[in-house]
Amino acid sequence: MTDPDCIFCKIARGEIAAKKIHDDADVMAFHDIRPQAPVHFLLVTKAHIASLYDAGPAHQAALGKLLVLAGRLAREAGATDGFRAIINNGRVAHQEVYHLHMHVLGGPESLGPMLARK
Ligand code: AMP
Ligand code: ZN
Repeated sequence: MTDPDCIFCKIARGEIAAKKIHDDADVMAFHDIRPQAPVHFLLVTKAHIASLYDAGPAHQAALGKLLVLAGRLAREAGATDGFRAIINNGRVAHQEVYHLHMHVLGGPESLGPMLARK
């Protein structure tokens, strides 16, 4: 499924440019346009799934592939000493783009605590 107005679907269709580091039938990875760490790329499903709330059994293979690719792509991007994988879902998590994606963030320095302490 593809959404005509979704920015990540547009990248998947080749209508918007992105610095791609992986592309296959199920998933794609590209550098985040506003990096928040020296390594910061996004792994996205090719299918338009709004968030994990909308994921179902039909998406299991693509989501498994997304997880399995994360470590190899992180290492290839230079995050050889650790990385963080984040999936924001919905309002409380400040999700901005409603097409399921996993952020991969890496050093070389420590990324700090998982969430900002209040
Ligand atoms: P989230 O808050 O988890 O929905 O994060 C959305 C992410 O998508 C942000 O980190 C944005 O910088 C990133 N982003 C938005 N548009 C683009 C784009 N055209 N190419 C690459 N990254 C993008
Ligand atoms: Zn989409």
